[in-house]
Amino acid sequence: MPYALIRPSDAKAWTECSRRVWLDNKAEITQAPLDPFEELVIELGLAHERDVLEGLRGQYDVREASSVEDTARLMEEGVEVIYQAQLFDEAENISGYPDFLIRHESGAYQPADAKLSLSADKKDIQVQLGIYRKMLANGLPGIVFLGDGSQDEIGAEVDALTTKFVTEMRALLASDDEPLVRYSHSKCRACVYYDHCKPGFMAKEDLSLLYGVDGRAVPHLEAAGVGTITQLAAADPEAIPNVPYLKNEKKHRAVLQAKSWFDEQVYQVADVMLPAGQWVHFDIEDNPLTNTGEKHVYLWGFLVPDYGDASFEYVWTDSEDQDRDGWLGFLAQIEAYRALYPELVLAHYSSHEKSTIRSYAKRYAMEDNSTVEWLLGGDSPLFDLQKPVLESLVLPLQAYGLKDICKHPGLVNFQWEDDESGSQWSVVQFHEFLHEQDAPAKEALKQAILGYNRDDVKATFYLERWLRARYLG
Ligand code: SF4
Repeated sequence: MPYALIRPSDAKAWTECSRRVWLDNKAEITQAPLDPFEELVIELGLAHERDVLEGLRGQYDVREASSVEDTARLMEEGVEVIYQAQLFDEAENISGYPDFLIRHESGAYQPADAKLSLSADKKDIQVQLGIYRKMLANGLPGIVFLGDGSQDEIGAEVDALTTKFVTEMRALLASDDEPLVRYSHSKCRACVYYDHCKPGFMAKEDLSLLYGVDGRAVPHLEAAGVGTITQLAAADPEAIPNVPYLKNEKKHRAVLQAKSWFDEQVYQVADVMLPAGQWVHFDIEDNPLTNTGEKHVYLWGFLVPDYGDASFEYVWTDSEDQDRDGWLGFLAQIEAYRALYPELVLAHYSSHEKSTIRSYAKRYAMEDNSTVEWLLGGDSPLFDLQKPVLESLVLPLQAYGLKDICKHPGLVNFQWEDDESGSQWSVVQFHEFLHEQDAPAKEALKQAILGYNRDDVKATFYLERWLRARYLG
């Protein structure tokens, strides 16, 4: 066989990292186990596929294929829908497993996949359906059964992307050397090969390990003689040329970030400004894995003066059926705080809370509601606490998330009661809550989620306190 075997299912790893897809195919490395959130996504994906299968069974004669030969035989027979089809292109050495082959009125077959996604725009979905189309070679579009129950089609517009995937995969799989890639904290931290890759980046002092240094800037910095974190920490930012993805002020921050890598110090680059008023700390928990595909905020949490454990208040909903009630409860809570605290500052961390309020206002056609207008208008009480951190400080961290800053013993040093908890953990707990039949067990799950959210709003309170004591004291 002139080429290594290519599987369309590699498309997801290919879109994320060329080394990941190479390791999947060429290396024998024990992968880290999937975390509970990834397991939940797989479980929901399989449930969605079963729902689509049941829907098709209600309308068509559906038969399950057991092999490549069996698939060919069922196609020859003209079966209306073939489930778990298996295709193999011997000349190209491509093996594909579309969830369904659906007989078109012309007698030819359309490939179809069930995807939890709400759109067929994702590259990995396009590549998979594009390859199945290429293998079937009849010009018909592929079908995607999306997570919200709608359908989309993928046609010849993805041919170029499909060809790119095949070409790059062939080159990757022909090589015996692990591809050179750059570190990306968001991708690598969640990757099953993190333990394999991170030591190599550390040993090389790869510049992409630094927050604010885009991997695409690194080859240019290397060409300019700045190839390691040690070299960057010792460099004069003015002497470093502007390179793509690292220019002007960003170079100054990158040098300080490199210094803090070694000395663990905080560097202040601008005054820290915090609004005056009565602060209420605010954080939401939302479930992106819903039946409708629209995320459901199941918990709107607040920490009010005097900020002790008894000062945690919240609006909770038991399921997405109560989504509107939760939203209206949130707006009522905001009005109560507005009446109680004339100079209200509604502090949250990152832009997520504000963008969620905006999307809920749109969902319920309430953009002109007076509370919504106040929350999103020029005199908004919302204050993103991440902004002063990002604008004024360089911290000895690889990421500037709330947990990164608050858990660090040399920074805020606030610890969550449950060390395992996190936003994805909360989604998994909420799904268990949804399916739990035993009332005490259900209540225990709710209390665990509330405890996590309470710690989140406490963390923003402790961060505020830390910023005031250190920079405004
Ligand atoms: S840890 Fe990072 S570099 Fe390594 S395979 Fe995963 S995503 Fe790629």
